[in-house]
Amino acid sequence: MTELERKQDRSPVPSGFDYAPAPESRDVVRLEKRYGLFIGGEFVEPRSGEFHSSISPATEEPLAEVAYAGPEDVALAVTAARDAFENGWSEIAPSERAKYLFRIARILQERSREFAVLESLDGGKPIRESRDVDLPLSAAHFFYYAGWADKLEYAFPSRKPRPVGVAGQIIPWNFPLLMLSWKIAPALASGNTVVLKPAETTPLTALLFCDVLRQAELPPGVVNIVTGDGRAGAEIVKHPGVDKVAFTGSTDVGKEIQRALAGTEKKLTLELGGKAANVIFDDAALDQAVEGIINGIYFNQGHVCCAGSRLLVQETIYEQTIAKLKRRMGTLRVGDPLDKNTDVGAINSKQQLDKIRELVAAGEEEGAEIYQPPCRLPEKGWWFPPTVFTNVAQSYRIAQEEIFGPVLSVLTFRTPDEAVEKANNTPYGLSAGVWTEKGSRILWMAQHLRAGVIWANTYNRFDPASPFGGYKESGFGREGGLHGLEPYLRFE
Ligand code: NDP
Repeated sequence: MTELERKQDRSPVPSGFDYAPAPESRDVVRLEKRYGLFIGGEFVEPRSGEFHSSISPATEEPLAEVAYAGPEDVALAVTAARDAFENGWSEIAPSERAKYLFRIARILQERSREFAVLESLDGGKPIRESRDVDLPLSAAHFFYYAGWADKLEYAFPSRKPRPVGVAGQIIPWNFPLLMLSWKIAPALASGNTVVLKPAETTPLTALLFCDVLRQAELPPGVVNIVTGDGRAGAEIVKHPGVDKVAFTGSTDVGKEIQRALAGTEKKLTLELGGKAANVIFDDAALDQAVEGIINGIYFNQGHVCCAGSRLLVQETIYEQTIAKLKRRMGTLRVGDPLDKNTDVGAINSKQQLDKIRELVAAGEEEGAEIYQPPCRLPEKGWWFPPTVFTNVAQSYRIAQEEIFGPVLSVLTFRTPDEAVEKANNTPYGLSAGVWTEKGSRILWMAQHLRAGVIWANTYNRFDPASPFGGYKESGFGREGGLHGLEPYLRFE
């Protein structure tokens, strides 16, 4: 490190970098006061008679009333999906199926601003991310799987691929529309029909998506969306008319689902939690690596299953890295998710905020050193500042448990072997990052890290052609790519 770099890293963050507010207009979104359940191609009143409000986490304002599906509602949705499967969808020419998927992809592109604003309103993520990541990737998933719909015979030669039937899909609140796309696109491309349940706190883009389905003239019943809480998810899992369950969410619920399905013939894929190591070697391009660390943990407020929540820094560059990191953290703008300058938005729910606070308090109690850059948090809503913990021992809860918030735990290592040992010292195995100039070291690390996805000199990159999924308590099965079709197929 040169003297000049040292001075730069010690100099305070420029305080004159104030940005005038640049809020995205909400006018593009028209919300209904109340939403029913989307079953058989139309919105129906829930038999349960129950509704709840979807709340904006940035303002705590109720946005719309959304139905809670009960057992009878789930049963109706499964029946509609079964009818659609048996009476048309599984039989139509695959190239026709592809046409619907292409249409959905194009409509998502056309209406992307509307979806991005709604995603940020309902979930609290910065508009910059919903606009530049969630929406383009959602459309890309539909485009990608549309391309496979009429090529399954070539994708799985000599194996006679056939659809499984009705897919029950349960998704979380961190990437509501994107997770919907990851689930629905491969299911439809392979000829299945769907009953999908969005998370209780973020149902609105899934409900707007029903409008896209109608616009695309998808036959009624091919996709059914039932909103509700965990009870509705559990109903989908145990319903005998469901042939395949796809779940993304917490490891605890994933285990419950696995137990519930033991002994049945239902297919299952689980995409669960993570505690990824982002490993920085001393030959890495440090400024780029610091950007990767920031993106790895503060993207989407850290509500990311593959977040780089454990930073492993080689001891020789520890001080430099931490100085650069703290300086960069000082430039992050926390606040209104609809402001185009915002880097870190609102925490998705009060419940999640309490969980983050509890784990952060545990980190301080166990002896780690906390750093949070000065930042003013809005008075209303649920917020947590970007946080980094140093002096972290591997046994601390903040090094072991998934915080699912903007909180980074820093550990150090001396040798590649030690880096691998520490990186793998977790019950999870979803993702990892490696930063080094040496190609051979990247390959060596990739062979030794027990993680489903390993990024080299980048982080949080996604592509529909690339399979995603975990080892150990991060689940099993892959989503994305050719691999993502297999769970939706049986072979004759
Ligand atoms: P959950 O696993 O509870 O929620 C995921 C989805 O499953 C939601 O749609 C939820 O419904 C539904 N669900 C809840 N209980 C059941 C059940 N018994 N059977 C079937 N479906 C069910 O995650 P949480 O929202 O509670 O988040 C808790 C923690 O999970 C987070 O702090 C984070 O650590 C982790 N998580 C990991 C995610 C990942 O991508 N791997 C995503 C989200 C959370 P509803 O929301 O309506 O209750």
